[in-house]
Amino acid sequence: MAQHSIITPIEYLKGVGPARAEVLKSELGVHTFNDLLKHYPFRYIDRTQFHKIRQLHPDMPAAQVIGRLVHLEERGERRSRRLVGLFKDDTGAMELVWFQSIGWLRKSLQVGTAYVIYGKPNVFNQELSMTHPEMEVYQRGAKEVGNMHLQPVYSATEKLKKFALDSRGIQRLQVALLETLAAQLVEELPEYVIEAHGLMPLPQAVVAIHFPRNQQELGQATRRLKFDELFFIQLKLLKNKLLNTERFRGHRFEVVGDRFKTFYNDHLPFSLTHAQKRVIKEIRKDTASGAQLNRLVQGDVGSGKTVVALMSMLLAVDNGFQACLMAPTEILAQQHYHSIKKLLGNGLASVQLLTGSTPKKDRRIIHGQLEEGTLDILVGTHALIEDAVRFKNLGFVVIDEQHRFGVEQRAKLWRKNQIPPHMLVMTATPIPRTLAMTLYGDLDISVIDELPAGRKPIKTLHLYESSRLRMFGFMKEEIAKGRQVYIVYPLIKESEKIDLLYLEAGLETLRKEFPLPRFHASIVHGKMPVKDKEFEMQRFVKGETQIMVATTVIEVGVDVPNASVMVIENAERFGLSQLHQLRGRVGRGAEQSYCILMSGSKLSKESKLRLETMVRTNDGFEIAEVDLQLRGPGDLAGTQQSGALNLKLADLTTDQALLTEVRNRVIQIFKEDPKLDNPRNTRLREYLARKEPGIGWDKIS
Ligand code: ADP
Ligand code: MG
Repeated sequence: MAQHSIITPIEYLKGVGPARAEVLKSELGVHTFNDLLKHYPFRYIDRTQFHKIRQLHPDMPAAQVIGRLVHLEERGERRSRRLVGLFKDDTGAMELVWFQSIGWLRKSLQVGTAYVIYGKPNVFNQELSMTHPEMEVYQRGAKEVGNMHLQPVYSATEKLKKFALDSRGIQRLQVALLETLAAQLVEELPEYVIEAHGLMPLPQAVVAIHFPRNQQELGQATRRLKFDELFFIQLKLLKNKLLNTERFRGHRFEVVGDRFKTFYNDHLPFSLTHAQKRVIKEIRKDTASGAQLNRLVQGDVGSGKTVVALMSMLLAVDNGFQACLMAPTEILAQQHYHSIKKLLGNGLASVQLLTGSTPKKDRRIIHGQLEEGTLDILVGTHALIEDAVRFKNLGFVVIDEQHRFGVEQRAKLWRKNQIPPHMLVMTATPIPRTLAMTLYGDLDISVIDELPAGRKPIKTLHLYESSRLRMFGFMKEEIAKGRQVYIVYPLIKESEKIDLLYLEAGLETLRKEFPLPRFHASIVHGKMPVKDKEFEMQRFVKGETQIMVATTVIEVGVDVPNASVMVIENAERFGLSQLHQLRGRVGRGAEQSYCILMSGSKLSKESKLRLETMVRTNDGFEIAEVDLQLRGPGDLAGTQQSGALNLKLADLTTDQALLTEVRNRVIQIFKEDPKLDNPRNTRLREYLARKEPGIGWDKIS
């Protein structure tokens, strides 16, 4: 038989075969030997520790007990149907309870047999019990168990269990796999790197992660494998970055011209913050360098990213290029368009708006102007990347609220000129440093870490339903002072109908409290035609309405400095970054602003933490960190698209130090040996030369 390697399809592993291979694929995404190798245990049972039933206590997180299953019966009906077992050792007895897979368990559990069980002890009606314990037939001196002190536990689904691939079954496959592959697990890191970081050799680490002899060995194996995960991501990202500046020449912006200067001297209604100036300088330096600019601008809500984008675009126009700004929603594109028009005044540059709802006739005119080169700046939505949109000479692209755009979409803009345009990416919400390094490791990063002067920090309150009247009273006071108020209702995509119900019920109460003709309200929600939305928004912007009732469509971008109160209804249903975005809609003028988070009284631990975080801090970076801890990187906006986050072991919330260590090493390697032709880096050169299926790194830029 042919020699096996890590890319051998999983069905060829001893003990697998076609049927089991199918379930391994569908249930775990395990297609090859390598995939199985990387199906790591999700925890380990310390087989050195056993408890007697008498020692069990509900405060214990989990415990392992050896005993005998002496009775098994079904109790209850329908929703309370359960399987109950009686489990005994020489010190006492307890109940084992299952609510799921009852039929299957009845068949597979054997009364009278000794088991090792593992689970969390509970006390119910003063009776000791365990719900859904892990059960394993007790085999005195069995070989696998006997040699092991830490036993791996693998996640397995019901379907896998039907094919005898429970944790134990998978463990057996791992044994077979490691035997087959033992000789072929080779180092991918250079020796000097392994040595410099004190890493456990790879072959040893791979075995130890599955079958560690003790905690210390497990710790070293985990560190080694995490190191590799992070290392090769950084290697690819930084290589890309390096090649980008080498391979992709960029348009050179020779001058800081009249438009830029006129704008700066005569049009700018405020003086720039130091942070804004610094970022503009960084952009200026990049665009003068002859290489393509690829920069991420991070800045908290209200830090003034728009004007930075606009001045960069003017720089392009001054140098004979066109520029465009792409926003993720129609409303946001409109908002950008209007504020840019306003800032520019007449004559500095020609600007147009192109979105999905631009009429055909206007669209054709815009297309024509773009190709002739008479249009300088185009603002819009996804409509910008359509093939029909061709520029005469596109030199600068700004992408706002990056996380909503896929990598592919970025790439499309990239191809709109022979030499790719400069790319400036602006994020709506700050991203934790680790995430930025991993997601955008190939971009240069600028941070606007300063808010414009004179802004008072927003005061945030969390109120329960019982304080609703107090909240209404407060709104009235603020409105009496001439201010405006937002009230935002949650929007869950799955159920716009329910969202509307909330909104409508809320409106009814609101109308009673705030009757016409004294009070006027704008209402905006996702189901409205764009024209109506725009009309309602404009009424609020112009100050004709004092209250803006909306679903989260106003989340990003909306800018009404006179609005001083943001009320968020059912705040517990919003994510942290969303709450922070919403709050950022106020506090844009000189007056004290407020954010009121309304919630029901029953809150999950997580919701509570979210609301507490909002009350405690206005710092978007701090909020982003908490968000990352709560949700994990996979769930943060936009990260789904990124192969960079396909991490099995490394955790961006807890492995910051390791990530920094790894990244610094990779930077040093490229600094000393940019082409990796030093023999000691051969493994790395070979690694990068191999084509890895499925990740598509070339497209990420
Ligand atoms: P964001 O970074 O959230 O996109 P914007 O660009 O919308 O922020 O700016 C928020 C508000 O602050 C706008 O009204 C803008 O005109 C104003 N602004 C921007 N820069 C300054 C500054 N340096 N001084 C005063 N106000 C500023
Ligand atoms: Mg913005």
